[in-house]
Amino acid sequence: STTANSPIIRPINKGVVHRICAGQVILDLSSAVKELVENSLDAGATSIEISLKEYGEEWFQVIDNGCGISPNNFKVLALKHHTSKLADFPDLQCLTTFGFRGEALSSLCALGDLSVETRSKNESVATHLTFDRSGLLTAERKTARQIGTTVTVKKLFSNLPVRSKEFNRNIRKEYGKLISLLNAYALVAKGVRLVCSNATGKNAKSVVLKTQGSDSLKDNIITVFGMNTFSCLEPVNICISDDCMVDGFLSRPGQGSGRNLGDRQYYFVNGRPVDMPKVGKLVNELYRGANSRQYPIAIMNFTVPTRACDVNVTPDKRKIFFSDEGSILLALREGLQQFYSPSNAFYSVNKFD
Ligand code: ADP
Ligand code: MG
Repeated sequence: STTANSPIIRPINKGVVHRICAGQVILDLSSAVKELVENSLDAGATSIEISLKEYGEEWFQVIDNGCGISPNNFKVLALKHHTSKLADFPDLQCLTTFGFRGEALSSLCALGDLSVETRSKNESVATHLTFDRSGLLTAERKTARQIGTTVTVKKLFSNLPVRSKEFNRNIRKEYGKLISLLNAYALVAKGVRLVCSNATGKNAKSVVLKTQGSDSLKDNIITVFGMNTFSCLEPVNICISDDCMVDGFLSRPGQGSGRNLGDRQYYFVNGRPVDMPKVGKLVNELYRGANSRQYPIAIMNFTVPTRACDVNVTPDKRKIFFSDEGSILLALREGLQQFYSPSNAFYSVNKFD
């Protein structure tokens, strides 16, 4: 009816806005841990330890031996859109870090209890820092620590009713997703030792993932999936264009193993783990031309000029836009067709040396 009052438009309270946006950056346990692991990699860490209590429901912690955070950054560390990685918009075109928006720590503050322990090389002692929901520094005290950073998040999602219920109900599933995501970083991070452990109840923590920090993808695949799995893979190398190529490992036609769609398929762009549903579909389609009973294992990295791809698409940075996706997919299709063509020598080989 025409008699209804026109509603008043009002600004949303800043704290509420913060909580709304934070929920988009940190979707679940794995995206929370992912942000911390990426921060450690950005800090040049060669050792990253992920500890969970009750599968992350109680708390989780990421400990690294990276560059640490210098004291003049403490006050702004967890403020929204504060970052050491990007200063101006064009910087997005030549990004070499995982982070760039300065949103992870501030979002984690909004969704859980964040504390940081850090020491940079110019300091003789470390500092323990705590933050409030809006990312303001609330307390700081000296403590002992090697150079590097430890970030701890307690009670994630305790103030988002639906998410916290989902989180608690699906904790095992969430945990499985996290391990699969950590596998992606374990595969691609060169020279970085990754350890993940979980502790439940009064039990001592049990190690669920441990890598040696090798420089070779081959070694990393063997550590993550085992020698048996590796021996069913074949190296793949496809030239997409003058400045773009794909390399990695794929199942041989006779020895596919992924039982489910997307199971053990890892895609990277310039070493960044991302979701590539179209590429996944293509790989599955061509593989199924050669083996209709299974899905392939795929570990593939796209090397692309940073100016030709855009990672600033979704808040969780898992989606990526290419400036010429059509021709990339076309060239990839041709390359995969050749890879799985019956004339390929590996059809007659049983073991990978
Ligand atoms: P971004 O990664 O996009 O910069 P974050 O909120 O994840 O935003 O982190 C904010 C800043 O805090 C980073 O730019 C970095 O300078 C610092 N930082 C966060 N984690 C670490 C770490 N583990 N080691 C060193 N510095 C860190
Ligand atoms: Mg970050």
